[in-house]
Amino acid sequence: MTIPPALEPPSRLLLGPGPSNVHPRVLRALSTPVVGHLDPAYLTLMDETRRMLQHVFQTTNALTLPISATGSAGMEACFVNLLEPGDEAVVCVNGVFGTRMADIVGRCGATLHTVEAPWGRIVDPADVEAALAKCRQPKLVAVVHAETSTGAWQPLEEIGALAHAAGALFVVDTVTSLAGCPVRVDDWGIDACYSGTQKCLSCPPALAPLTFSERAVEVLQRRRSKVQSWYLDLTMITKYWGEERVYHHTAPISMSYALYEALRIVVEEGLAARWDRHRRNHEALAAGLEAIGLGLAAQEGHRLWQLNSVTIPDGVDDAAVRGRLLHEFGIEIGAGLGPLKGRTWRIGLMGENSRPASVLTLLEALERVLADAGHGRAAGAGVAAAAAAYSTGAANVEC
Ligand code: PLP
Repeated sequence: MTIPPALEPPSRLLLGPGPSNVHPRVLRALSTPVVGHLDPAYLTLMDETRRMLQHVFQTTNALTLPISATGSAGMEACFVNLLEPGDEAVVCVNGVFGTRMADIVGRCGATLHTVEAPWGRIVDPADVEAALAKCRQPKLVAVVHAETSTGAWQPLEEIGALAHAAGALFVVDTVTSLAGCPVRVDDWGIDACYSGTQKCLSCPPALAPLTFSERAVEVLQRRRSKVQSWYLDLTMITKYWGEERVYHHTAPISMSYALYEALRIVVEEGLAARWDRHRRNHEALAAGLEAIGLGLAAQEGHRLWQLNSVTIPDGVDDAAVRGRLLHEFGIEIGAGLGPLKGRTWRIGLMGENSRPASVLTLLEALERVLADAGHGRAAGAGVAAAAAAYSTGAANVEC
């Protein structure tokens, strides 16, 4: 056969819904020597990783580890370990990822009760309460904290309290929220929570940090049937992560190095400082977008800092704008999904990419492309508004 060309991926500014750009220290960690998955050095790294994940999730949960696959495997791991055929589950659906949770619940053979909200809006706790009232014995309530498909930021505490009052576990998707805005697993009564590495952790995609409360572990231990997925069975995976160190699957060593370094970077920066950085850059971006006539699509007061869903102005060609940003400026932004396809762009400011240079570079490029598309404003208005937001310090947002 002919030899394909050498690998030369283009260098991009990744301002879409993920992956985000990987921190150079994480890239270096990826190129360090691979050791065996039972090597004492690797076992130490596992322990430290777990400790750092507990910190980032703000939990003392003993069962805290990265699943060896992407965020979707974290999602699937929560449901296959907690649900058995015939159980009842309440799933909040206001975007792509709630829809996926509902799909997985059905595949587990559980009875599904969905609580819907329009895409871009948050789920109303009163609707969750009404759905719980219809259940005989709900096993869990599941919700997406940061709905990447819409940019909506779901408050959690009230829904968690309703779940517990009904005797159910509280399951939360924090794939896009973790390390970009507050995630307080213990304070908010979250029983099962998963994330991904490629968003606000600025690591490549491939691991799914996950944490289970003691209550969730008890449910797992009391199962009547085997966990239906062999690969995601936490009763076996925890034997490798626990004292026994029993082989389950070969750990993704290089990705574990990457996550280890990414977590060290988060701990060095400090969670509060990191969250505040995400807030400030979001506010500057929002000011810049407004100055060039672009509005945010998600419900006001519930907009994510790390994922900005932007309404595409009438008459502007969605794909053409994204194509020019990518090919002329090397900037990736995301398209809308589902009902928002063609109606929104998704601009991520996640982890490494949540910084003034990304905001100003994007605004300048977007202004130019939009001006060519006949949607011009005073040249430089977006960049000037964002710069002004940085210098005045934008309004504080409660979290
Ligand atoms: N949940 C949310 C909120 C996400 O944004 C994503 C991915 O974008 C996933 C789950 C699935 O994660 P992955 O694509 O890493 O499997």
